[in-house]
Amino acid sequence: MSANIAALLYLVAGVLFIFALRGLSSPATSREGNRYGMIGMAIAVATTLLTHFPSFGGLLMIVIGVAIGGGAGAFIAQRVPMTKMPELVAGFHALVGLAAVLVAAGAFFAPRAFGIGDANEIHAGSLVEMSLGAAIGAITFTGSIIAFLKLSERMTGKPILLPERHTINIMLGVALLALTALFVGTQSGVWLFLLIFASFALGVTLIIPIGGADMPVVVSMLNSYSGWAAAGIGFTLGNLALIITGALVGSSGAILSYIMCKGMNRSFISVILGGFGGEVAGPAGGKETRNVKQGSAEDAAYIMQNAGKIIIVPGYGMAVAQAQHALREMADMLKEEGVDIKYAIHPVAGRMPGHMNVLLAEANVPYDEVFELEDINSEFGQADVAFVIGANDVTNPAAKTDKTSAIYGMPILDVEKAKTVLFLKRGMGSGYAGVENELFFRPNTMMLFGDAKKTVESIVKSLAH
Ligand code: NDP
Repeated sequence: MSANIAALLYLVAGVLFIFALRGLSSPATSREGNRYGMIGMAIAVATTLLTHFPSFGGLLMIVIGVAIGGGAGAFIAQRVPMTKMPELVAGFHALVGLAAVLVAAGAFFAPRAFGIGDANEIHAGSLVEMSLGAAIGAITFTGSIIAFLKLSERMTGKPILLPERHTINIMLGVALLALTALFVGTQSGVWLFLLIFASFALGVTLIIPIGGADMPVVVSMLNSYSGWAAAGIGFTLGNLALIITGALVGSSGAILSYIMCKGMNRSFISVILGGFGGEVAGPAGGKETRNVKQGSAEDAAYIMQNAGKIIIVPGYGMAVAQAQHALREMADMLKEEGVDIKYAIHPVAGRMPGHMNVLLAEANVPYDEVFELEDINSEFGQADVAFVIGANDVTNPAAKTDKTSAIYGMPILDVEKAKTVLFLKRGMGSGYAGVENELFFRPNTMMLFGDAKKTVESIVKSLAH
């Protein structure tokens, strides 16, 4: 295939990726977006294969690689429950990072195969690209592993604060620059490997201090890093499609991180430089001895049947319980009785960006009933009921009042302004950030203890009577 046709096809793939991103920006068009992405990727892979037509042995290696990697990916993706999606994504980001490191190492040891010079005379530009790809990839690799461990609760979700951590990060940053200069100047592999190890260390020190409610920003930031790492590989391999795709992932991830930072009221720069937020973890919940008002499904059904306006606030617990279908059934019954129903989505509700939107879309909740925080927060004052299903941190007023709290500064849904707040959760446990929620003890709050799906199913039964 001629270079011109290949470039044209890569361009077509790039345009399809842009359509994919556009489609993914709304639940209504996300399936279409995914299709564009798949077609774009098929074109890019076919073009690469036809451009560098491999030998039979090479083709066999590629087929075996795709079968193992693709098979493992398909197997894991089919089995992973929705609640484990964020850690899966973090795990996949780690693999992208590692791939960037391995490609850089491969290019260093076999520069001829990559068309970037001879054994001891690699072009300086390629050495810089290699260093960048390796460093970003290594930071993404270890950073994503830490995020994976934190999200899967194999490691404490609380910030781990090393003494002098900012100095350590700055020193590691300076070391990366110096090692890159030494590597480009001498072309000695020692400097490349030291650069990779220093980057591995920086990935760890950047992510361990981030805890509690700031993890969403980390996930989207690592998403962005993995894109830049892929773009770095694209430069090393001289592959236009990879450069375009990596840049798209990198920039869209950066934009998402920025939006998440705004949603969390955090400084983007602070988070990139290693978690200034969430440094003070609040007390863990669960040991509270104060009394709370507890209600039954019948009580909830009665209150809601007599309400004019209900705002539903879904959170991570709804995902755990998989209560979205029962919830929609309940909402449909209430709507038939003339109750106005709206859903309020906090930008970091659940465990990944858009988590709640995906679940509600899966249950066919009409999109025009679903509102973002800034569009609905002022309406809680006119609502008769705030129906909080498996959400906790995103409603916690400590974010407004308690300066020592890990979630201080994060905008929250003002559910307490509704006449009655119904909290569906299993017990008095705290949310992801480990901060106790004062709302449970308020006089206008009623706790409905139990698995959210079972509770909603019981409410549905009561409504039917
Ligand atoms: P939270 O983690 O604050 O609270 C979820 C609540 O659900 C818990 O308090 C738990 O209480 C309850 N719960 C768990 N299982 C069930 C069940 N089966 N039935 C009923 N209730 C259940 O969730 P939010 O959505 O309010 O907040 C999200 C938090 O996660 C924020 O701190 C956010 O920063 C963080 N985060 C978000 C990410 C994102 O991208 N969206 C990524 C990573 C972290 P109990 O145990 O008593 O049942």
